[in-house]
Amino acid sequence: MSYQVLARKWRPRTFESLVGQEHVVKALRNALDQKRLHHAYLFSGTRGVGKTTLARILAKCLNCETGISSSPCGKCSACVEIDAGRFVDLIEVDAATNTKVDEMRQLLENSVYAPARGRFKVYVIDEVHMLSTSAFNAMLKTLEEPPEHIKFILATTDPQKIPVTVLSRCLQFNLKQMPSRAIAAHLETILAEERLPAEAGALRLLAECARGSMRDALSLLDQAIAYSAGNVTEQAVRSMLGTIDDSFLYSILEGLARGDSDAVLAIAEDMRSRSVGFDGALQDLGTVLHRVALAQAAPGAVDAEGGLRERLVALGRALGPEEVQLYYQIAIHGAGGEPSDAATPAGDRQAAARGSFDGDWPKLANSLNLGGIAKQLAQASELGSFDGEALELCVSPAAKHLAEKSYQEKLRGALQERFGKPVRLTVTIRETTGNTARDRAAAAVGRDAFVRDLVENFDATIVESSIKPAQ
Ligand SMILES: [Zn+2]
Repeated sequence: MSYQVLARKWRPRTFESLVGQEHVVKALRNALDQKRLHHAYLFSGTRGVGKTTLARILAKCLNCETGISSSPCGKCSACVEIDAGRFVDLIEVDAATNTKVDEMRQLLENSVYAPARGRFKVYVIDEVHMLSTSAFNAMLKTLEEPPEHIKFILATTDPQKIPVTVLSRCLQFNLKQMPSRAIAAHLETILAEERLPAEAGALRLLAECARGSMRDALSLLDQAIAYSAGNVTEQAVRSMLGTIDDSFLYSILEGLARGDSDAVLAIAEDMRSRSVGFDGALQDLGTVLHRVALAQAAPGAVDAEGGLRERLVALGRALGPEEVQLYYQIAIHGAGGEPSDAATPAGDRQAAARGSFDGDWPKLANSLNLGGIAKQLAQASELGSFDGEALELCVSPAAKHLAEKSYQEKLRGALQERFGKPVRLTVTIRETTGNTARDRAAAAVGRDAFVRDLVENFDATIVESSIKPAQ
């Protein structure tokens, strides 16, 4: 049985199933039901909020064989083919890769021909702000006198880069980032349908890590299911994401607020005995302090569950705003200092770290200042080539979901930070040869005498997906 990734399986196919964009859906439904159709629509919003999903639903509304409506049947050949991504009159273009004027002109020249199957030829142009000026000009001509059978649906993460002449001819909708509470609730619904057990705390963590993007949330959920072998517990998700149990951090701050230094030291000792990384803990402490400051300034805006809201508000009352600011600075500056190198001045250490790439990509990948999926991208990729400026990485087709543009961008940023100069990064999808940070970690685990003993004498098996490279 083939496994379909959740993000694709649960991609909304109707307005009803779209989570969190009620304001846009309401306006579009009214326009469709009253047959007030526009030639061009622009959906703006951060990545993963559902722009192209919405575009496909709108394309169905316009081309459903039962008539134009806000509730396409989902059964006719037009609806089915649009859902399957193979409807001839739905032309989807990614402007990030088709920026040239010739390509745009070709596309628009073809637009004069009547649709082959549908009522309208629908052009969905994703990341439209990436088009060149001349490509925009070519499009503008069509937008000024659009043939009756054409609809444009433009999507962008950066509407400010779109020429005003184009903007003024579009009906604009701004899609909102989804609150983590709504994301967590949606994940819960999906897991119930999939009959998989999950802890509420696990879903809260995944939703927070997704930062408003349902697509990221579903992709993380897929990973969590694999990582935890189908039992999505809070502990498994914490370990997958590399986050630590918040309750330590809250207890530390509560101890500080009481002036109870013994309690604070006892918590630190407890963390040490559990091998909690202090670097990550300090970073997370910064996040908690940020939320305490928010609780002081705007208690109503605090979005937290499981009793954490009460603790945040109580901390906000117990600590003064200046104290919170001071602790925040200590946490932020404290993270990343390595006491063992204290004799070397910080500047020298940074210079030594810079440009010191010895070709050992797995080692570098593990040490980059990255989190979440961008870190996984680094650890799952293999070095193609590096000439001091341009770095080529390879990712196997199985891990291609990690190579999305935004994660590449984060990785590029971390490399630039490390090398102290801009790095041109390209990520190629092809079979890797087994020299990624992940492969190395798996090999090390396999060599470990204790592990070998377990495998040989106790019939144990190594779950490869559960292996994570150490920092
Ligand atoms: Zn239909």
